[in-house]
Amino acid sequence: MNLSDIKSLDSQHFLQVFGERTPVCFVRGEGATLYDQDGKAYTDLFAGIAVNSLGYNHPAITDAIIAQAKSGVLHTSNIYYVQPQAELAALLCQHTFADRVFFSNSGAEANEGAMKLACKYFYAQGSKRYKIISADHSFHGRTLATVAATGHDYYQEPFRALLPKGFTQVPYNDLGALVAAIDDETAAIMLEPMQGEGGVTPANCEYLMAVRELCDKLGILLIFDEVQTGVCRTGSLYCYQQYGVVPDIMTSAKGLGCGFPIGAILASEKVASKISKGDHGSTFGGNTFACAVSLSAMRFMIENDYSAVAKEKGAYLMNALKAIKSDKVLEVRGMGMLIGIQLPPDFPAGKLMGKMLARGFVPGTASGNVLRLAPPLVISYEEMDAFVSALKEELE
Ligand SMILES: *Cc1c(COP(=O)(O)O)cnc(C)c1O
Repeated sequence: MNLSDIKSLDSQHFLQVFGERTPVCFVRGEGATLYDQDGKAYTDLFAGIAVNSLGYNHPAITDAIIAQAKSGVLHTSNIYYVQPQAELAALLCQHTFADRVFFSNSGAEANEGAMKLACKYFYAQGSKRYKIISADHSFHGRTLATVAATGHDYYQEPFRALLPKGFTQVPYNDLGALVAAIDDETAAIMLEPMQGEGGVTPANCEYLMAVRELCDKLGILLIFDEVQTGVCRTGSLYCYQQYGVVPDIMTSAKGLGCGFPIGAILASEKVASKISKGDHGSTFGGNTFACAVSLSAMRFMIENDYSAVAKEKGAYLMNALKAIKSDKVLEVRGMGMLIGIQLPPDFPAGKLMGKMLARGFVPGTASGNVLRLAPPLVISYEEMDAFVSALKEELE
């Protein structure tokens, strides 16, 4: 099947929520290289939206998939004990603030669970707190509750009538606005330590520290959505570790399975102790297959210190990008291997992405006219050099 056949099937039968897509279909990958149907090679700088952190056909992923598939057991349900689920939960607890973990199938689903945990924490104590405050330009997912938490009118408007109550958004990095929004029904503040979809905007350290203090003072919970920033991406296993600000609940997904769908809710014992049998659940969440693949990926990344890899490669890429002298580059920002290049309003990031694609590179975009880079962490320095010089040429 060639690309125009696929395009025609998609345009006739697929729900058109993605509109017209970038006209490429990748069929094979190796390392940080993707190949399209004509065998054209592309260097990937987006990792399927910060997902494929170990690139393509990595033995820690491919071998784990084959071994688990050959056992014949992909799913048993959560009625029974699931060994890789228990091991993955233990690994995450060992390397983060968390005392307990629950697995989901996506980032949005993890955030839904995180908000349920916050609500139950107060309900169990007879408190009326249930509201969630999040930030403008945040992104928390596409389910009704996560859309209600996502700070973009664009995502909320058509569904306003059906969105759950109890959600407000305040400007990011603005402590005064947050303080003003809190009332005696506020249960939790949910923030990305660095906004990804919103334009690759890191939180100010003083802000996050003040938010933590505020939560402690008022007895409300702090939730970090690390769906995009987690799993070594920003130069530490989770981004909060670089800020030194510890949440009560945290969510993870995207890079957690390095391409295999899995999400996680991580919680401190303070919160977890208020959760009882029946409060939450999932048929597929924490299934044997997903947990076995994620466990293999996570062990590999932790044992080989991919946080340090992301930090070093990210600093190198950031410096190279900052050295580009072009009036089209207004700012280069980010942490580790999650980098945003701020472009002027009259120079659309989508168009630049198309030009780079034609040159054999796959960057991404973020809102606010930002070219977003989230390369596979296995990308080589030579590949990053080649991208930067191609970008430089394109900008000239
Ligand atoms: C991608 C993303 C989500 C949603 O994850 P899905 O797996 O698409 O549901 C939630 N929060 C953040 C910060 C994200 O980047």
